[in-house]
Amino acid sequence: MSSYYNICLDVGGTKVLGVIFDENREIIYRLKKKTTEGGDKTENIEQVIIGVVDQMIKESGINKKKLHAIAACAPGVIDQDSGIVLFTPNLPWRDYDIKTPMENKFGVPFYIGNDVNLGVLGEYKFGAAKGYKNVVGFFVGTGMGGGLILNGKLYTGNKFKAGEYGHMILDPEGPLCNCGQRGCLEAFASKKGMTAYISQQAARGRKSIIADNISNGVFRSKFLKKALEEKDVVAQEAVDRACHYLAIATGNMINTFSPDIVIYGGGVIEAVGDIFLEKVLAEVDRYCMPSIRSTVDIKQAALGDDSVIYGELAMIEAADKKGDKSDEKKSDKKQDKSASGKKQSKKK
Ligand SMILES: [Zn+2]
Repeated sequence: MSSYYNICLDVGGTKVLGVIFDENREIIYRLKKKTTEGGDKTENIEQVIIGVVDQMIKESGINKKKLHAIAACAPGVIDQDSGIVLFTPNLPWRDYDIKTPMENKFGVPFYIGNDVNLGVLGEYKFGAAKGYKNVVGFFVGTGMGGGLILNGKLYTGNKFKAGEYGHMILDPEGPLCNCGQRGCLEAFASKKGMTAYISQQAARGRKSIIADNISNGVFRSKFLKKALEEKDVVAQEAVDRACHYLAIATGNMINTFSPDIVIYGGGVIEAVGDIFLEKVLAEVDRYCMPSIRSTVDIKQAALGDDSVIYGELAMIEAADKKGDKSDEKKSDKKQDKSASGKKQSKKK
């Protein structure tokens, strides 16, 4: 029996994935639930999350008193220190304090961070980037996420807004991006970007099995895998184009940061990562300086869908460590005080 448990939640636009970790970082329980049920109001998503945690505790049979901490993520700008969700593009949270109601409800610390940042942190602590000091992460999903570890630390920039290099502009006259700009990496290499290309070609009368499998503006990654296996020409073109621009963006990031490793994660990579990696590797050397390229490893994420969940565990463990240190400092100060007090009394 584990002496304590952590609950980690991956909160997306359409679903919440929850896991329970035991003290050995083993996942002992999993739950997946849709967030779209019950409308789109701020409180409703909070209620869904609370419901998921309640259900997980109940169904797993863990002792509620042994719950140590809860961590979550969301896509968007999140003040990781205060737990305030400043802005999320796919969830109705604006300057929203989710920390307080969660801590009040469950009586344990609650932490929240940006999903891609935590995905990179997870790979850095427990996955493909373990042992490296400088990490550039690209997460290829519905959109294109970025996360940076610099000198062994997650780089969040001013007001936690760093890492948006999915919106690096690679062609100002390129296709329209979700952000309002044209020609961002996301507009070429994300599921949205690839779907837009495939839809355009289908509208011109070309056939693709993916064109018949689009819902909410994107295909599902498993259909991309199937299409590539069946040598669907339009799908192959979309992937070639995605990888071409991903290689350019990767080259730019390699020149800028001279990282130890570049990792690719996210749903698309989980499904067809081998193909992406091969194509990017074939081109990337053209877009960065050979001397810098020579010291960079390029790999796929190792934790698959769980990168973010492991990043949340790392966030909990970092907070525990910080807590221990501040406790030590407090007791050090006490000792200092009593020591200086003694000195003073001696002087007298
Ligand atoms: Zn953009």
